[in-house]
Amino acid sequence: MSRFMSRRFDDLEAYVPGEQPRDMQYVKLNTNESPFPPSPAVFAAVNEEEVSRLNLYPDPEGLLLRQKLSKLYGVGVENIFLANGSDELLNFFFMAFCDAHRPVAFPDISYGFYPVYAGLYNLPYTQIPLREGFRLSYQDYCHIDSSVVIANPNAPTGRAIPPEEIEEIVRTNPRHVVLIDEAYIDFGGESCLPLIHRYSNLIVCQTFSKFRSLAGGRLGYAMGHPELIADLNKIKYSTNSYNINRLTLTAAAAAIDSNDYYVQNSRIIQENRAYTVAALERLGFETVPSLANFIFTRCPAIPGGTLYEKLRAKGVLVRHWTKPAIADYLRITIGSREQMDVLIQRTAEILRGE
Ligand code: PMP
Repeated sequence: MSRFMSRRFDDLEAYVPGEQPRDMQYVKLNTNESPFPPSPAVFAAVNEEEVSRLNLYPDPEGLLLRQKLSKLYGVGVENIFLANGSDELLNFFFMAFCDAHRPVAFPDISYGFYPVYAGLYNLPYTQIPLREGFRLSYQDYCHIDSSVVIANPNAPTGRAIPPEEIEEIVRTNPRHVVLIDEAYIDFGGESCLPLIHRYSNLIVCQTFSKFRSLAGGRLGYAMGHPELIADLNKIKYSTNSYNINRLTLTAAAAAIDSNDYYVQNSRIIQENRAYTVAALERLGFETVPSLANFIFTRCPAIPGGTLYEKLRAKGVLVRHWTKPAIADYLRITIGSREQMDVLIQRTAEILRGE
């Protein structure tokens, strides 16, 4: 227990991010980053001239970038809010739209940060169990008179539900905000973004960290009704008005200008995903169907924790959780074909006892 910290945080369990090894000797498939560098346009944009302007604060409204996002997605500038990673956006969501009278619900197996934010703000929250095969049943979220957070595709499972089912959740909880976390939407899923024009209680949250190869830049964005965007701005301007740094605004604007590059990379990731699932299946693995840039998979012949440790010893980092319901599984980021071949070869060696 801390000597100085407020007692209200005594029971808070902080989020534990995936390991970021400093030696970079590993084939790193543990935090769902892109294996591809940012586009050439990003390299060109983050230049000496931009660095020379770092003595100046960034645009607190990020207007140029919001204009570019507005064009790309066919929504108004007033429908877009920028955050320092979607993690910051989630933080603002829990702070702004949930309290003792507005409980929040999310799946029991999902992004591990949701219960941490709920704990940080001491919120009443419900973790709704997934169904058989880690399926999310949308009916479990209808008419629950509660704020809702759903990652779609879900993490760490990779499973997605269609926009029609999300619409039912949004429609049947009209007094509360529903946040759909689409961090992994650009790897084959269907976005529910068009629904923001019909429902004023929906926030769609996306990120530059995965599809746009900019995890180190820290940029997330929310799209929703202007009233919700104004609420998020109220929180932002009460915490950190310059939440996005200058270089990230510049890099992100260049990334939007080179969308085709990222679409092509996503195609490669989707091919590598199918390739990896098939190769692991030949080794006896069972993999949850994924529409994300990762897979959730288990091998009946070896416990998840053991396989994780053995892969690590052979230089391949993946993600494993000890929570009983998912302890058999590994979450493996889909990287380049070369990285996946190393994963598959090392796994085969481990299964042969080598
Ligand atoms: N949502 C989900 C479901 C995630 O898996 C992640 C990545 N850990 C995030 C949000 C946060 O991503 P970022 O803050 O890098 O945008």
